[in-house]
Amino acid sequence: MKLKLHSFELRLRHVFTISRESVEIQPTLIVELEEEGLRGYGEATSDDYYGATIAEMSAALEAVRADLEHWTLDDPAKLWEKLSPRLGNNPFAQCALDEAAYDLWGKKQGKPTWKAWGLSAEKLPLTNYTIGIDTVETMVAHMQEFPNWPIYKIKLGTKDDLAIIRELRRHTNAVFRVDANCAWTADETIQNSRVLAELGVEFIEQPLPPDQWDEMRRVYQQSVLPVIADESCQRESDVERCAGHFHGINIKLVKCGGFTPARRMIGLARELGLKVMVGCMTESTVGISSIAQLLPLLDYVDMDGALLLAEDVATGVTIEQGVCHFSMENGCGVRLNQDGAKPTRQN
Ligand code: MG
Repeated sequence: MKLKLHSFELRLRHVFTISRESVEIQPTLIVELEEEGLRGYGEATSDDYYGATIAEMSAALEAVRADLEHWTLDDPAKLWEKLSPRLGNNPFAQCALDEAAYDLWGKKQGKPTWKAWGLSAEKLPLTNYTIGIDTVETMVAHMQEFPNWPIYKIKLGTKDDLAIIRELRRHTNAVFRVDANCAWTADETIQNSRVLAELGVEFIEQPLPPDQWDEMRRVYQQSVLPVIADESCQRESDVERCAGHFHGINIKLVKCGGFTPARRMIGLARELGLKVMVGCMTESTVGISSIAQLLPLLDYVDMDGALLLAEDVATGVTIEQGVCHFSMENGCGVRLNQDGAKPTRQN
């Protein structure tokens, strides 16, 4: 296989704010694997919270370039295992490579990746559209830019969280999900859950900082709403501990290192009776098309990242009012736009 790295700066439609940060330009790394004229793509964005930079991801992938060039793709999971000792401490790079391998693998078989896994696309969960933190008037306006969605995910972690949800509720009957990104206390979460349940909220994502397991157990027992782990569930080894502390987990491909561990995490979560969600970063249609392959396995999905962008760098799946439409292409369905957003560098 040949390896190519493309990095882009993705400009967002609006500044996107969560409890700990604001983003206007999102750097991202797209990995391309080519074999016999077929190309597979995967993505990982930079991320301050998880300490992922484009430079470190690129360096990690450059270090395995020679191995990739001697490898003929047969089973992407075998490639993941082989490179795991060298990429394991850089799950973002590992993810982008694994997504590219599974896109190429499906293309080599002439099938969408989900179909090559033997999944059925009869019943798929709807995705939410995410509203970042802003003044409540602006949050209402951002929701109304994407009207009639069945589900909105609202970022919280302000002094006025309940007032925000009350005001948004005046403008829609859609289901709400809330994500506090670690900004609440246990007591606040338990109290908020009662009010939010009355306001049509489906679940609360990551209310507490990830190290507060004892407090989280109390929330798990007393919250009226289900609580879903995001920052508390990063790697495969975190899933087991989430049982008894959360009702479900939000898997992100970049956090865990790609499809290979994510599919095992889904299996383990099911055995433990946990609900399964997959979430996205603010990323392009490359990463979003990867997430779509897992849809048949999920209870919930948050895959609106590319809709938050002012310009995309690829074609693949499309999303209309929460419904994901698969691409006509095989694999994960990705095709990189050669004349899309301006690349910052190409190797
Ligand atoms: Mg989250």
